[in-house]
Amino acid sequence: MNTEVTIIGAGLGGLTLARVLHVHGIAATVYELDASPAARPQGGMLDIHDYNGQLALRDAGLSEQFQAIIHPGGQAVRVLDRHRTVLLDEADEQGDGGRPEVDRGRLRQILLDSLPEGTVRWGRKVTAVRALGGGRHEVTFAGGETATTGLLVGADGAWSRIRPLVSGAAPAYTGVSFVEADHHDADARHPVPASIVGGGMLFALAPGQGFLAHREPDGSLHVYIAVRKPRQWLDSVDWSDPERGKAALAGEFAGWAPPMRTLITEADGPLVPRAIHALPVDHRWERVPGVTLLGDAAHLMSPFAGEGANLAMYDAAELGKAIAAHPGDVEEALAAYERELFPRSAEAAAEAARNLALCFGDDAPRSLVDQFAAYGAA
Ligand SMILES: Cc1cc2nc3c(=O)[nH]c(=O)nc-3n(C[C@H](O)[C@H](O)[C@H](O)COP(=O)(O)OP(=O)(O)OC[C@H]3O[C@@H](n4cnc5c(N)ncnc54)[C@H](O)[C@@H]3O)c2cc1C
Repeated sequence: MNTEVTIIGAGLGGLTLARVLHVHGIAATVYELDASPAARPQGGMLDIHDYNGQLALRDAGLSEQFQAIIHPGGQAVRVLDRHRTVLLDEADEQGDGGRPEVDRGRLRQILLDSLPEGTVRWGRKVTAVRALGGGRHEVTFAGGETATTGLLVGADGAWSRIRPLVSGAAPAYTGVSFVEADHHDADARHPVPASIVGGGMLFALAPGQGFLAHREPDGSLHVYIAVRKPRQWLDSVDWSDPERGKAALAGEFAGWAPPMRTLITEADGPLVPRAIHALPVDHRWERVPGVTLLGDAAHLMSPFAGEGANLAMYDAAELGKAIAAHPGDVEEALAAYERELFPRSAEAAAEAARNLALCFGDDAPRSLVDQFAAYGAA
């Protein structure tokens, strides 16, 4: 199997790169460990920003398709404290705030539908990769199949198998863990949680803990229950038993008003634990012939800047355009891409680290309200 641009990972970043290359008439193959597009729920809402994610979709020729999946009202935001006091409540009446919300799964589907048949090879888990010299690499998949390539792109997320080719850095635990929960058919079945979350995004915070939640277009609530705890705490709870998991969380939130605790106690179905990791804020590497990274593989950060998916798509579009602009000169294309990538990533990663400290610090939630006021004034 030989192909010129080989992309590992069919997340938003890898798919956007394949699409932008396709727009420029350059063929690529994407290798993805999931067995099929439906193998895993993609879940959750994403704000797509007009200064990065939307620009990438424009470069991909998919702006119209994107406009069609915007969730009206999704940019509403509110901040509450543990007593259910509303400290900030901004509506999204026009839906023109520059950060419209879309469902991640639908966005991924738009990208998948835009690629020529066979671009994504499903069920291909990279298990090893080695340099062959002269900028060429050999990738080995579970089962023993291999592929060689002159341009390898690691778009394989937080635990990238491609990253070690360029960097010895590894993600570190941020000290904050999420447990994801859903409340289905919220207005009818969960009126208290529904009234707390409102029409868009909720931040309910106290020092060291809180709830981040979205209302989804299907009327359900997706809640990230967040705690600043040692990693061992997350591992010590049996999350496969939702009742036990909810009891452990309810204990942590004992000091919250009872209606706020319904965000835990009324949750439906499985709970998904997620330890939040990040790469060093200034992660970068020396140029290595024939290989680069994008998205979380390059700059995993906590979700508190709301930039990870936006940057993954933006990186991908910039890389695709750089490859198209330097036909026959892979090294110049990758050098041009990385020159912009490193400062851009470091700025967002620093913001994510600052926001994480601010959301769970001693002044929460007042610190977040002040930050929104500062953004509004800027
Ligand atoms: C709880 C949470 C909330 C978030 N909220 C937001 C938000 O609101 N806004 C925002 O912009 N960002 C958000 N993010 C960040 C965002 O999800 C990521 O930054 C984004 O998904 C990165 O895209 P990616 O394409 O780089 O990687 P991924 O989406 O992780 O895709 C990587 C792909 O590579 C595949 N893969 C991995 N290993 C291998 C292998 N060995 N072989 C083959 N394939 C492999 C994976 O299966 C996956 O499909 C959030 C993240 C979390 C954890």
